[in-house]
Amino acid sequence: MSVWDEVVGQPRAVGTFQRAVLGARRGAEDPQAFTNSWLVTGPAGSGRSTIAYAFAAALLCPDNGCGVCPSCQQVAARSHADLTAVATETVSIDIKTARSLVGRAANSPTTADFRVIVIEDADRIVERSSNTLLKAIEEPVDTTVWVLCAPSEADLLPTIRSRVRVVPLTTPKVEDVADLLERRHGIDHETAMRAAREAQSHVGMASRLVTSPEAWRRRDASLDGVLGLATVGDAVRKAQEWTDIAKSDGEAHFAERAEREKLETYRDLGLEPGKPVPRKLQKIFRDLEEQQKRVAKRATIDGVDRILTDIQSLLRDLLMLKLQVGVPLVNESRRGELEAVANRAPAWHTIASIEAIALVRERLAANVPPQLALEELLIGYAIGSS
Ligand SMILES: [Zn+2]
Repeated sequence: MSVWDEVVGQPRAVGTFQRAVLGARRGAEDPQAFTNSWLVTGPAGSGRSTIAYAFAAALLCPDNGCGVCPSCQQVAARSHADLTAVATETVSIDIKTARSLVGRAANSPTTADFRVIVIEDADRIVERSSNTLLKAIEEPVDTTVWVLCAPSEADLLPTIRSRVRVVPLTTPKVEDVADLLERRHGIDHETAMRAAREAQSHVGMASRLVTSPEAWRRRDASLDGVLGLATVGDAVRKAQEWTDIAKSDGEAHFAERAEREKLETYRDLGLEPGKPVPRKLQKIFRDLEEQQKRVAKRATIDGVDRILTDIQSLLRDLLMLKLQVGVPLVNESRRGELEAVANRAPAWHTIASIEAIALVRERLAANVPPQLALEELLIGYAIGSS
């Protein structure tokens, strides 16, 4: 067993990091293989953070990442004293977080040879924060290692980009993802293949499908929704329904977390939970609430984005059938249904719908309310197919 077992279908990147770990040790043969600042890039679901934490674990482990020692287990639980894990669920990484990271980066490790800072969404570092981080990343303390993750180099501010060594990931093969699902969840090959295909090799999504029947059912329901869309009325109803689903999904996820953060804040301030908060400290709780609102909003948008990805896969399948290119379908289990739609829908309509999805994503990024953006997409689809 090793920490690299969880990394799916990335032999080159794993090789780079394994050499880096060896290069980091005292008296290494190839010290050039190691550097202090890294950037892992790759499409969503390619496992950017998985490989980042595997690298962190390997650096902190006395045995280069055995996967079983206390150190490796602590990294897996994100509780290692020399690991700082930044997994923001907010839209941006603010200046306060950036300052505290710089502070930590200046300290020497407590038990391991290194202190590793993993930033899972480095593309969410805003410019002001990046200026704060810049010097720490550019001239890190010898024992501090930065591992940033982002979809692509272009997502990072140029000032940071030029100071990190880039490790690109590729979309893993469906078979590799299925293999991991079988190993991790003990499911049969056919279900694993179907989940891997429908999640389009997105490891996290594929795991979610096989562990949450509800998530899988919801995916099926959105595809049914699109295939059955006939009128403008249907489109408006669906847009409302999906926004509600995405929202309640997000709320359930964050209610628990918000409560926990609030209790922690009470404790940090030496207050008793539920008791009145002294006037001078009230601003802290207001800030926390503001921050939590932003988190919840982001969750809704992520939920809508997942639905868009599923619809996109359906349209892509329709187009493949239309063009008769004979590639495997993402939604192979619906082949019959899809063939029927492909026979009656003109190709231009399918292409227009795929383009419309890209437009919805741009609108969401520009803060257009999700329901409005979805409505437009679905109405366009309904009109085109009638
Ligand atoms: Zn270990």
